[in-house]
Amino acid sequence: MEYDVVIGLEVHAELKTNSKCFCSCKNEAGDEPNTNCCPVCIGLPGALPILNKFAVEQTIRAGLALGFEINRTAVFERKNYFYPDLAKAYQISQLVKPICINGSLRIGNKDIPINRIHLEEDAGKLVHGADGSTLVDYNRGGVPLIELVTDALKEPHIESADEAIEFLEKLRQIYIYAGVADCLIEKGQMRADVNVSLKPKGSDKYGTKVEMKNIMGFKSVYRAIQYEIERQRDILDDGGVIEQETRKWDDDKGINFTLRTKENSQDYRYFPDPDLLAVKIDDAKIDEIKRTMPMLPNELKEKYMNEYSLSEYDADVLLQFKHVSDFFNQCVADYNQPKTVCNWITTEIMARIKTESGAGPILISKDNLVWLMKNVDNKKINRLSAKDVLSKVWGTDLSAENEAKRLNLIIDIDTGALDEIIKKIVEQNSNVVEQYKTANDPKILNYLVGQVMKETRGKANAGDVMAKIKELANS
Ligand code: ADP
Ligand code: MG
Ligand code: ZN
Repeated sequence: MEYDVVIGLEVHAELKTNSKCFCSCKNEAGDEPNTNCCPVCIGLPGALPILNKFAVEQTIRAGLALGFEINRTAVFERKNYFYPDLAKAYQISQLVKPICINGSLRIGNKDIPINRIHLEEDAGKLVHGADGSTLVDYNRGGVPLIELVTDALKEPHIESADEAIEFLEKLRQIYIYAGVADCLIEKGQMRADVNVSLKPKGSDKYGTKVEMKNIMGFKSVYRAIQYEIERQRDILDDGGVIEQETRKWDDDKGINFTLRTKENSQDYRYFPDPDLLAVKIDDAKIDEIKRTMPMLPNELKEKYMNEYSLSEYDADVLLQFKHVSDFFNQCVADYNQPKTVCNWITTEIMARIKTESGAGPILISKDNLVWLMKNVDNKKINRLSAKDVLSKVWGTDLSAENEAKRLNLIIDIDTGALDEIIKKIVEQNSNVVEQYKTANDPKILNYLVGQVMKETRGKANAGDVMAKIKELANS
């Protein structure tokens, strides 16, 4: 039988803030375990939470970047459950009145409806040792986390693993550009729960969903969805029924297995947290956040294509990594030749920073790159020499100009001397010149240019030399 696939995503992202959500402990990954903790975030009795205003602002910013409505009153609730890394035995979260409601995100030509973004606190982290022991690190406990929930029960929904990944990548890009989250996947700063169901093709009755929680990394999300679709298809084809349950994705084995049959929100005994007042959000705050919103990927893309006349492909390459488009913007501000800057960055720079999983830092200053681009354009240095200089200064604090001078690469030969050299080469190679005249072969011309460049030690402009040789050959 043929089926429609329906996918709902719940995406968690750790907010970029200095301190935690309800105390003043540092929000910092990678510190010595249990050093960023206090009575509030390890849940000692009697300790009282104080809301981090900036975490609320970051949540609003995330919402506005995705076109959400902002609730003027938002409420924190306690979600009660026991887990060793949740010392209070409840998580402060939002159920009935989240900060953001009704947004959407465009993938392909579909606007995927999103129910909500709410603000909650992250739990600590269990660290499993090789000897079978388990340690708990509460540094992450209380770190502000936003959870976004797509609405799979509205049209259009996410219908394949490919679309789910596109959604997650777009979302990640928007969060990063808006400055709300770094979303470093390898540090667990962005995690997704995936809900999958199948229904007979064209049917408007939804199938039973299965949830896979806390999948780390987009590749794993992709594989987990593919696996779950096939698992459900096999069961349904055999006339079986899908149990509503939470299954655990095992990335090493490439399978999933039952974790627990599905809990409901009632099971968590949500109730308004009596320690926290409702959050009032006024128009002035929303306006201020709108006004200070950094340029988002779609706005930059439009600017690159319409204002700078870059191709869509080039715009996408520049925008794939925020630090790359930031660098591009800085260079263009200094040297208003967007196409030239784009060419250098998408080739020379990208080749040096691209890694398997992303892009490393750009190890050349804006000033150095701009100097090289300008002087290639002004014919003060040849393109090949400039690329050599780029390699020499990359990862150092050398100046491109000094390096070009030190390596004797500045084109400073005077026209008189250059004309002499060209004349000499043309005379010495008179039969080659004759060949060129009859065959009109650019390879032969390049050979002659090469001879002149050798004689000048690369200190002439190759284009000028070529023009001059042509002129002499045809005279
Ligand atoms: P729960 O309370 O079980 O977590 P939610 O109503 O919060 O369920 O939904 C979680 C996610 O699952 C949402 O993205 C929602 O749109 C999606 N979802 C709900 N029903 C289905 C379904 N039948 N198939 C696929 N996804 C679904
Ligand atoms: Mg859920
Ligand atoms: Zn704390």
